[in-house]
This record gives sequence, C-alpha cells and structure tokens, in this order.
Amino acid sequence: MNVAVTSDVIARLHEESLRAHPEECCGILIGNENRIEEVIPAANVAPEPTRHFEIDPATLLAAHRAARQGAGREGAGKVMGYYHSHPVGRPVPSATDCEHSTGDLRVWAIIADGQVAFWRDTGNGFSPLTCHIVGSVARNDLNPNGHPKVHPNASPE
Ligand SMILES: [Zn+2]
Repeated sequence: MNVAVTSDVIARLHEESLRAHPEECCGILIGNENRIEEVIPAANVAPEPTRHFEIDPATLLAAHRAARQGAGREGAGKVMGYYHSHPVGRPVPSATDCEHSTGDLRVWAIIADGQVAFWRDTGNGFSPLTCHIVGSVARNDLNPNGHPKVHPNASPE
C-alpha cells in the first residue's frame, strides 16, 4: 500500500510539529485518491496535550462540510486522514493511538524524531504505508544532519 504526498505537505507537517512542541500538534490531511495535497492544522483540545491529541471537533466538522460541498468539483479535496506529532518517541502509533483505531481506512501521519511516517487505520491497529513524495523540489527533504525527513518505511519517488 502506498500514498502520494506533496513535498509542501511534508514540510508543513514538520513546521507544525516544531511549532507545537512540547505539545502534540494535530490536524487534518486533505487530498484526492491516494494523494495528500493539503494540511488543515487544528487546535489540540486534549486535556494533556503534551501526551495526547484530540482534534478540535469544530475544525473537523468544517473540513468534512467543505469536502461534502465541494464533492464532484475539480480540485475539491476530501478528508484523507489525520496527523499528529509525538514530541517524545518514534513516528509509530502508540498504544493510545491503537485504541482510537476505527478501521475507517483513513491515513494517519505521525511526526516524531524529525521524521514523518504514514499509516493506514485498518481497525486492528495500523499498517505502514509507503510514501511517495510528489510535487516541488525535494531540497527540503533532508534534515540538517543529512537524514531523510521521511521515515525509512517511506521511499521518495
Ligand atoms: Zn500518537
């Protein structure tokens, strides 16, 4: 299984993660087919935002409404999934994340340790997705230490 993600989205996810630190950032992934093209940041309304995330329900509702209203129109994005960061740890679903797995097959992007990893919510937890970076120049796809910003289970196109 794989997913295409624009380099702008990858850059944005890293920015959001850094901006929210030491709290978890969270938000919505917008796109079409298997391509993620846009990010909608949301407030993390969890009681303990340094340890958990909960996407502001108003933002989520608005994103779904916008997707419904745009349905069928060219360029209108669908809600492809969600993202959040792990200020401590690795870009893999935590035990809490797995408890929230619903099997809706949406994409979960997790940003941690300077990397982004993509997963699909299969209902029994998450399965890893291979990420293909598309769109503009990939010059931002390396950290200052030269390591790729995308998790090793992902491969640039
Ligand atoms: Zn998590």
